[in-house]
Amino acid sequence: MNAKRIALPPAPVDLCERSPAYVRAIAPYQPGKPISEVARELGLDEARIVKLASNENPLGVAPRARAAIEAALSDLARYPDGFDLVNALSDRLGVGMDAIVLGNGSNDVLEMVAGAFLAPGRAAVFSQHAFAVYPLATQARGAQCIVVPAKDYAHDLPAMLAAITPETRVVFIANPNNPTGTMIPAAALEDFLRRVPREVAVVLDEAYNEYVEPALRCPSLAWLERHPNLIVTRTFSKAYGLAGLRVGYAACHPELAALLNRVRQPFNVNNLALVAAIAALDDEAFVTRSFALNAAGMKQLTAGFERLGLAWIPSFGNFVSLAVPREGGESRAAAVFQHLLRQGVIVRPVAGYQMPDHLRVTVGLPEENERFLAALAPALERRRAGGAG
Ligand SMILES: *Cc1c(COP(=O)(O)O)cnc(C)c1O
Repeated sequence: MNAKRIALPPAPVDLCERSPAYVRAIAPYQPGKPISEVARELGLDEARIVKLASNENPLGVAPRARAAIEAALSDLARYPDGFDLVNALSDRLGVGMDAIVLGNGSNDVLEMVAGAFLAPGRAAVFSQHAFAVYPLATQARGAQCIVVPAKDYAHDLPAMLAAITPETRVVFIANPNNPTGTMIPAAALEDFLRRVPREVAVVLDEAYNEYVEPALRCPSLAWLERHPNLIVTRTFSKAYGLAGLRVGYAACHPELAALLNRVRQPFNVNNLALVAAIAALDDEAFVTRSFALNAAGMKQLTAGFERLGLAWIPSFGNFVSLAVPREGGESRAAAVFQHLLRQGVIVRPVAGYQMPDHLRVTVGLPEENERFLAALAPALERRRAGGAG
């Protein structure tokens, strides 16, 4: 059945050592554990596993998007053309088509920003506990990461402003931020934009925008009128339920968009992703349902934390980071994570974000949230009983 594996020579050490030191220094992105892997490793039934680890939409794919995907299957022999999605976004956002750049997920757009502005000798500013892709994209270009200490887990904008050096070309801001869930109020953010030098790009990553109460959302697209150095990024991965298709976008000044397009791969967003995103954009009922489910699920989770006497970071996203109490000065988050895994509940350790005492959990369906809370109680009990995690 399986073809015989070819025998490989020794690793090309000389070649590997000639990879730039800044590439070799990168710590690879750690994704949430996939359901199939946990099932294999622990001998569990896939159907019994609850994954609350990657901020995915628990409602699945928007119905209209699914129908559009099925209808587009016969077009897959053709290379994709982003015109229709850019056109739909232009209408929806009220910006010109030349102000929109499509990405293979918004990660791709973040990489394009790094590719367009960062290089050895240049720098990017971002917050401690910010989204992992900012350091990855910065380091991959050999640029310096200027990491600004957070304040109560939130972005410290005055300190970020003060941290901008003459070499700085990009500031990355996630609002709300992942994995903390913290959000910068619009007034503070606009004040920051007014003060940032025009030769520094400000990336405002709004991956969780659709989960924010409408009254609290930033008028970020209107800000483009006054701030030509602003790049707003959004995604179809979260509230639109299309994480597996990889589609996101940037809205920015057309001159910046032209630069991003220079480093964009041709055909970076595939046919199915394009048609699904257009349909999802029209499926307002689905986004409304996702928002309501998330708001209720957030209440359910935090009420559960309160009953268990746990602290958490108030979150504006579709996830929340809870603090696992230490024992004898030692973090217990990794042990509680493992205990939950064995119960078939996957959450996300965030030690890699300098949050060794926290676990991030995505808001799921009511029954998934309940499964998680039910498994969390005994995981913490074992701590009190002094048993091994
Ligand atoms: C999930 C997420 C994204 C979106 O990633 P995609 O590449 O669009 O799937 C971007 N920024 C933050 C902060 C996120 O959490």
